[in-house]
Parts: sequence; C-alpha cells; structure tokens
Amino acid sequence: MKNVTKNLRIIVTRSGMEIPIENERLTLEYRKKLDQMQGFIHIDGEDINIKDIVGTFKPDTVDAMHRRKRGEWQDENGQWYSRDVHRCPGCGNIIPKGKVCGNC
Ligand SMILES: [Zn+2]
Repeated sequence: MKNVTKNLRIIVTRSGMEIPIENERLTLEYRKKLDQMQGFIHIDGEDINIKDIVGTFKPDTVDAMHRRKRGEWQDENGQWYSRDVHRCPGCGNIIPKGKVCGNC
C-alpha cells in the first residue's frame, strides 16, 4: 500500500481537476506530448487535452498546494499551521492571530 502511494502522481489541470495516476502509467508518449504541448492523453477512457494540464505532481505537493490556498503556512521543520495562528517573534510560541504572547 505504501508503495502504491509512493508511486502515485496527480495530474493537475488548469480548471483545478486532479487526476491521480500511478507513475508507471505516465508513458513516454504522455511526457512527449507534454513537452510539445500538443495532443490528448487517454486515461481510463477519458481524453484530456494536454494544453489544459498544469503539471504532474506528487501527492505531497498537491497537498501543500491545497494548504497554501487555504492560507496555511509551514515552519522550517515542515510543520503546517492554520491561517489563524502566527509565531511570536520573541519566544517562538504559536499564538492566535491578533493576540499577544503571554511570555514576552
Ligand atoms: Zn512570546
């Protein structure tokens, strides 16, 4: 199962559609068309215009895109926080936005 996730890629289109696909199914033909920005790719009986594709991303990358869109932010350790909190510049505590830190 872990292997499946690791090999999963997500094709993101300009309209925001997300198409999960195993990396090994992204054929040379797909990559060539993407390079040339011309043609359609065929996935599970559906045809997608290559011009509408933004790119092919790992699930973590797409997750980060979603979080940033929601206003979440990431610290230097990769930990995500909601838009409603910020870090105290004095002690580094995470505090609600608009509030001051109790320590400093
Ligand atoms: Zn503080």
